[in-house]
Amino acid sequence: MPKDKVALVTGVSRGIGRAVVLALAAAGARIVAVGRNREGTESLVEELKAQGTEALAIVADVSQADDVERVFSEATAAFGRIDILVNNAGINRDGLLLRMKEEDWDAVLDVNLKGAFLCTRAAAKIMSKQRYGRIINISSVVGQMGNAGQANYCASKAGLFGLTKSNARELARRNVTVNAVAPGFIVTEMTDSLPEKVKEELLGQIPMERFGTAEDVAAAVAFLAAEQTGYITGQILGVNGGMYM
Ligand code: NAP
Repeated sequence: MPKDKVALVTGVSRGIGRAVVLALAAAGARIVAVGRNREGTESLVEELKAQGTEALAIVADVSQADDVERVFSEATAAFGRIDILVNNAGINRDGLLLRMKEEDWDAVLDVNLKGAFLCTRAAAKIMSKQRYGRIINISSVVGQMGNAGQANYCASKAGLFGLTKSNARELARRNVTVNAVAPGFIVTEMTDSLPEKVKEELLGQIPMERFGTAEDVAAAVAFLAAEQTGYITGQILGVNGGMYM
């Protein structure tokens, strides 16, 4: 990845987002780190600066249109361009369908799907003008398979596939690629809280017989963010140890 590329990643304070930022920085990108959590976002940027990476922290909630507008104007004011967008910010509010509250449905769809839409719309404007861009949406294997107790989360992640493919078709002639990465079970704070019994059952479904790491996902994102992979668009790249093929 050439040194002048600017990567904007959302949801960076921990887990997959943090690993993605570190992988893209290691590949030579300048970083715009966007997170809701001020301390986590700013400390990551301090870490990047200490290792010689140009980076900017922006505290924002991706589900809020005003915040997203501010993110992209601050980012372009600082760096003049955005080459890579990684829509990683995501939440879950699990519960069985009959007990699922409307606010839990709305909260998950607002962050996971609307947040990606808002960021993509803002980025697409800049990338179309540049005639260059890489957009990567972090979906999930459960968007492909479904999962009991996660109707809202699975719907949001399956929605990202439709968003990815439609945007890929619209932006292809501007040399902007749009792809999704669908991680399987990755060890992060999001999955820490699952009961041991559920974790054991999940492990039994993974041919590689291990859970994934945030770095496994980051490697797939870095691949799709590279200049050399510009003929790949509208695809879903599974990072799931063979759990879903
Ligand atoms: P995580 O540890 O919970 O981290 C999520 C990150 O997103 C946090 O930094 C969080 O910041 C941020 N965030 C949440 N809502 C936000 C918002 N509205 N605006 C800005 N930032 C926000 O989760 P993770 O496991 O790393 O997951 C990252 C992505 O991968 C998510 O989209 C998730 O759905 C997806 N994924 C994860 C797995 C897995 O097994 N872990 C599997 C498949 C897909 P705060 O500190 O503010 O909450």
